[in-house]
Amino acid sequence: MNVITRFAPSPTGYLHAGNYRTALFAYIFSHQNKGSFILRIEDTDKDRSKKEYEDNIIDSLNWLGLKYDKMERQSDRADIHAKYIQKLIDSGHAYISNEIERQKINDAKLGESTDGESSKNIKKASRDTVIRFKNPNKKVVFEDLIRGHIEFDTTELDDFVIARSLNEPVFHLAVVIDDAEEGITHIIRGEDHISNTPRHILLYEALGFVVPQYAHIPLLLSTDRSKLSKRKGALPITEYRQRGFMPEAVINYLSLLGWHPSDEREILSLEDIIKDFSLERVQKSGAIFDEEKLLWFNRGYIAKLTDDQFSSQAQTFIPEWLHTHSDQFKKLIPLLREKIGTFGDIQKLFDANGELAFINTIYNYDSSMLLWKKNPDPIIAKKHLEESYKTLNEKAESEFTPDIIKQALWPYAETNGKGDVLWPLRIAITGQERSPDPFTSISLIGKEKTLQRIDTAIKKLS
Ligand code: GLU
Repeated sequence: MNVITRFAPSPTGYLHAGNYRTALFAYIFSHQNKGSFILRIEDTDKDRSKKEYEDNIIDSLNWLGLKYDKMERQSDRADIHAKYIQKLIDSGHAYISNEIERQKINDAKLGESTDGESSKNIKKASRDTVIRFKNPNKKVVFEDLIRGHIEFDTTELDDFVIARSLNEPVFHLAVVIDDAEEGITHIIRGEDHISNTPRHILLYEALGFVVPQYAHIPLLLSTDRSKLSKRKGALPITEYRQRGFMPEAVINYLSLLGWHPSDEREILSLEDIIKDFSLERVQKSGAIFDEEKLLWFNRGYIAKLTDDQFSSQAQTFIPEWLHTHSDQFKKLIPLLREKIGTFGDIQKLFDANGELAFINTIYNYDSSMLLWKKNPDPIIAKKHLEESYKTLNEKAESEFTPDIIKQALWPYAETNGKGDVLWPLRIAITGQERSPDPFTSISLIGKEKTLQRIDTAIKKLS
């Protein structure tokens, strides 16, 4: 079978991780089956659909690397929809319903009088005429590829509305016509559409189309298990790009929300996922979207980048002057890598002058911080700092690279205790307990500042 899947978002707002996970699963499934993947913008709700949201959807899919083979806009297909609506009317599957009459009949059935109040409601609530589907009131049965056997008695759906006029199909009809015309074989979508499926199947049957396979994916939940919403951390996916997440990490994480590979692997490329994916391994219960976990993946992906790759991804986040000082920037890469979860975090490491914050300003620290906790003796700490000062003073400015500094200090540290020697040095240079290793810090601040800071520390201990 030539598999064709689609992603059919409505451009009525910014889409979040849950929507793109749906797109991802549809994309993966089509690729796994060497089929195609279609993007359909469902923009028939003219009041709520906006170009800005449509652009954002396209932008997001591009960023994530989910290429579609074809794109269509539902609003461009009005003529086709009208043709099918007419066909349904002509074949007796649908009819033009006088809504005012219908309301009267319903009210009468309920034994209510059509007093002033309810006729006011009618005028407010509906149009004079709409097009309704003549419900055969039967049981609809389908095998969902994720949820299994589903039965639904459609009687309760009544003669549901399929269009407000020939030119205004509602979602249920437009989606069926477009999916059928495109030959969509597998409809992979969010579980919130499961209750719409019986209507859709009735329409497929009435139009004489082959009913596709359905796979309804469980919803994404916030960490407190409520439905993922904007307020609860469901950002537009492009915001992750702005914050400096890597699309590979986002894809990897999204794929594991409600799905797991056949083995223990956690780090998977899109290619790996396509090879191993199976709808049977998609779970039925909701999956939790946790930004902390996403950050963990992102760190992992950042760690794997070569220095060149790191450098090119970091460009938009580093201060102006570093763009023209690539040697300086290269020195910083190991340190930045260690400190950031996203490339956007780089910005927090620099102060307003574009200087690395911890280098430019030395934090005011208490002399007790200079003491190594396993041997808190100020006389020893002072002696080691004096020794480090002497060693570093003998080096030329050009020798202030992490490697040369380490070679210079290491033998003394090994003989006299690494903690005893390097701890006071670390504090002397940065004033912080959590800081890069002292060799890196020393190379970054250079000879003059290094000696000044060690001197200050010695005085504190005197
Ligand atoms: N346009 C619908 C939505 O955004 C999706 C329709 C579907 O996937 O069948 O919810």
